[in-house]
Amino acid sequence: MVEINETENSEKKGLNFVEQLVYDDLQEGKNGGRLNTRFPPEPNGYLHIGHAKAICMDFGIAEKFGGTCNLRFDDTNPVKEDVEYVDAIREDIHWLGFDWGDREYYASDYFPKLYDLAIRLIKEGKAYVDDQTSEQIASQKGTPTTPGTESPYRNRSVEENLDLFERMNNGEFEEGARVLRAKIDMASSNMHFRDPIMYRIIKHPHHRTGTTWNVYPMYDFAHGQSDYFEGVTHSICTLEFVPHRPLYEYYVKELADESYCPRQIEFNRLNLTYTVMSKRKLLQLVKEGLVAGWDDPRMPTICGMRRRGYTPDSIKNFISTIGYTKYEALNSISLLEHAVREDLNKNATRVMAVVNPLKVIITNYPERETEMVEMENNPEQENSGVHTMPFSREIYIEREDFMENPPKKYFRLAPDCEVRLKGAYIIKCTGVKKDSAGNIEEVYCTYDADTRSGLPGSARKVKGTLHWVSAQHAKDATVRIYDRLFDVENPATETERDFREMLNPESLKVISGVKIEPFLAENAVVGNKFQFQRIGYFTPDYDSNPDNIIFNRTIALKDSWEKAQKK
Ligand code: ATP
Ligand code: MG
Repeated sequence: MVEINETENSEKKGLNFVEQLVYDDLQEGKNGGRLNTRFPPEPNGYLHIGHAKAICMDFGIAEKFGGTCNLRFDDTNPVKEDVEYVDAIREDIHWLGFDWGDREYYASDYFPKLYDLAIRLIKEGKAYVDDQTSEQIASQKGTPTTPGTESPYRNRSVEENLDLFERMNNGEFEEGARVLRAKIDMASSNMHFRDPIMYRIIKHPHHRTGTTWNVYPMYDFAHGQSDYFEGVTHSICTLEFVPHRPLYEYYVKELADESYCPRQIEFNRLNLTYTVMSKRKLLQLVKEGLVAGWDDPRMPTICGMRRRGYTPDSIKNFISTIGYTKYEALNSISLLEHAVREDLNKNATRVMAVVNPLKVIITNYPERETEMVEMENNPEQENSGVHTMPFSREIYIEREDFMENPPKKYFRLAPDCEVRLKGAYIIKCTGVKKDSAGNIEEVYCTYDADTRSGLPGSARKVKGTLHWVSAQHAKDATVRIYDRLFDVENPATETERDFREMLNPESLKVISGVKIEPFLAENAVVGNKFQFQRIGYFTPDYDSNPDNIIFNRTIALKDSWEKAQKK
């Protein structure tokens, strides 16, 4: 029994339209006040950010109103399905922070009941075996404004239909030779009512039922009934199922009585710029080796995002920002990236890493001396504490932070100019050493010993502050810099080009020889989130180990893309 407390009542205005419909049903006492949703993935690929939107709705609404949410694998097509996907789907839902308890179901568990229903419909003259090919059947469908043509097999006897359907399931006929169709109305204004296919022959072993079946139900003949068998009260799905709803209700009514009937409600799919979301295309990218796997950090999959360093909160916050509507839209990937930055800004540990190192020698600092300076772990979080970092005579700074002939208002390091080394001293550049080609090899500086953080001279102000690491103490690391996988804003609409031609050739850059502070090397453990100061957010990759430290760049500190695109 669902209890809606006063807070929930007063928050009523803040409900999205699906929550509003569910709330109203609960208030009216429908289904005895019960709320049961389901998330129904087909185990034919890994979950992506679009599925996350459905998961947040299906599990979120159950949580909000004290109901339950089933996980149901919609495993009705053995050709494309695999247990690898089942396991990955479970892991991803858990990682997002949702749980289905013991309510894990499989559409394949209902194959016997669905078969019985099919037999009953045949006996009642509501279904028939059609010997035509799928092409012939499609050519008779008609158009939304002209009626379809009835199949010459439509009026077979019940006995013949029963016999043929049974033999279809016994494996007597080849795939495509026959189908079972519902006998509804070839002139219906709803195309889905024009004698939809209920069963087709598939002679491929199923990952759960093996070779028990040679006929498999179509989505439309399985979904609503599965909802019904499980006692689902609200079957929430995406907008492309709106025209399927009458058929959903038609089949469910063959089972349901007055007291209970699941209700289908549709919301808009998540579409993202610079992204393809079709599982078929994502599978192609994986199979053809165009990405490193389903969990390649450039993939829009949940596991790819996890590997890249996105957090469940950032994904959930993004989804709650875009909301649920009844209109299809294309959401900017920048919004997702913004949510990721916001969350990491609050939670990532600040560290020093120099991606493109240039050596700086502090000539008035004693050789062989090392002192430890304190670094704040996270200024956005009280009590996040500090860690220490070694300072010594030779350090690395970012090559981009030095210019021999700087323009005006250049606040980084340049001859005769001063900068602060974050957390340490003010230094002044006194000279450079160049190789024979004129490239700067080393920069010479002096430091002002009074300016160390904490000393009275630390109040002295200079315009620029640089990140740095001690050369002698730094560890080497590799960073993988990811960019958007596609360089076209909406790959799905550019139908005249193959989507693989739209891949961004710059989507992965690998930089080795990155110098990182010892604290970062010690904490380079998968799952940890870091902000490399002034550079971006990074997380250790699965391939990383203490002898070969590898970071994924989760996201740059600022969104440079939108600007670059507008130029
Ligand atoms: P594809 O068409 O790429 O195979 P699908 O929608 O068939 O994807 P399913 O595994 O059947 O994938 O999806 C499970 C649930 O997730 C469905 O309820 C579906 O509506 C929902 N879903 C899938 N893609 C999106 C999306 N982009 N936005 C919101 N919900 C989605
Ligand atoms: Mg589907």
